[in-house]
Amino acid sequence: MSTPEWDVIVIGAGPAGALAAHQLAGCQLRVLLVEKRLFPRWKICGSCLNGVALRALEQAGLGHLLAELGADPLGRIRLGLQGQQLELALPAGRSLSRSRLDLALCEAAVAAGAVLRTPWEATVAGPSPGGRQVLLRCGDQRQITSARVVLVASGLGSAGLGPELPIETRINPGARVGAGCELEAGVGGYGNGTIHMAVGRHGYVGLVRNEAGALNLAAAFDRPQLIAAGGPAASAAAVLAEAGFDPLPQAAAATWRATPALTRRCKPLAAERVLLLGDAAGYVEPFTGEGMGWALVGALAVVPLVLQGQKDWNRSLERQWSRRHARLIGSRQRFCHGLAFALRRPGLSRALVSAAGRWPALTAPLLQHLDGVTLQRISPAPCP
Ligand SMILES: Cc1cc2nc3c(=O)[nH]c(=O)nc-3n(C[C@H](O)[C@H](O)[C@H](O)COP(=O)(O)OP(=O)(O)OC[C@H]3O[C@@H](n4cnc5c(N)ncnc54)[C@H](O)[C@@H]3O)c2cc1C
Repeated sequence: MSTPEWDVIVIGAGPAGALAAHQLAGCQLRVLLVEKRLFPRWKICGSCLNGVALRALEQAGLGHLLAELGADPLGRIRLGLQGQQLELALPAGRSLSRSRLDLALCEAAVAAGAVLRTPWEATVAGPSPGGRQVLLRCGDQRQITSARVVLVASGLGSAGLGPELPIETRINPGARVGAGCELEAGVGGYGNGTIHMAVGRHGYVGLVRNEAGALNLAAAFDRPQLIAAGGPAASAAAVLAEAGFDPLPQAAAATWRATPALTRRCKPLAAERVLLLGDAAGYVEPFTGEGMGWALVGALAVVPLVLQGQKDWNRSLERQWSRRHARLIGSRQRFCHGLAFALRRPGLSRALVSAAGRWPALTAPLLQHLDGVTLQRISPAPCP
């Protein structure tokens, strides 16, 4: 291969990868989007799009998808902690199942001109003349291709990173693991339009009705207690009871899935002709339900660097991506980290909830954060 086959290869078609592929294909680049699972697929996620995510979709010209897919407006968050309950109005939010959202974003990328390979698994390999090689695998088939720039948007665990890349992933000691399941629409209680968030000493469970009325459960648990309790269903039941929420016996019979350890950092966020985005670039546990917002904002923010990297690659692009990511997403992740820290301390979190109940104005910074007031700083990249 003398010249790269593609301008961009995007590994992973979650919100980060699919939106980046959409934007770049819209700039007339030759984009290959590789996804290892067949869509539609269920994914562990609270499925709540906050103000940041909604605005990023608007900015990308895909805001219309939400109404078309029937995304359910979210008006309130109900927090339960050690028997205390607090209900707050949300500035913005929509609930939409990941199977629908991710499929729609992927279809939008293809409609914009991206080529989708699925179910193919991709791994970044060594350099090639003017580009980067990528190994593609599907069953027994193996292929090598290349691109001027590779975006790794392969989610938690960064399965798309080959061993020769000088990128290290550090998992936080004591990082919680995620778990989730879906209960059919007939299950009572836990009304729609509200995020029901039960908080316990060893984890939390978010319950949200999706556009079809199904009840989506997404949780984060301390690993030792998850094992001691005998699995996610028992851990979720314990958290609901601790929070003072109604029991959900149906969850015991549901099919639960679990994630790897959640809170992690990747360093650096780039290598020669490779940029990381979305969860693949690092993640903080999901109490504030912002991961999709971070993924979508990252997809918009990476576009100018990919465009610059088409002509020539230099190390300053790698440094620019680290700085841009830290400014747009790292600051929001630090806030989320702080909140997760407070929630692990029962005395502190009880005091915070009772103070918020007494003086609701104290919750304004959290709600502003969820609404993404800082998004004005992010503007989508114009194509050249
Ligand atoms: C319990 C829990 C609750 C959450 N709740 C919310 C919430 O309510 N709101 C919110 O905004 N966020 C929430 N999140 C976070 C959110 O789910 C993620 O941040 C978001 O999915 C990140 O998007 P992404 O595109 O980076 O990765 P993903 O959505 O994980 O997509 C990555 C894609 O890459 C594919 N892939 C992986 N490896 C390869 C490979 N080698 N080759 C090809 N394809 C590959 C995967 O199959 C996948 O489709 C939650 C997370 C958890 C764990």
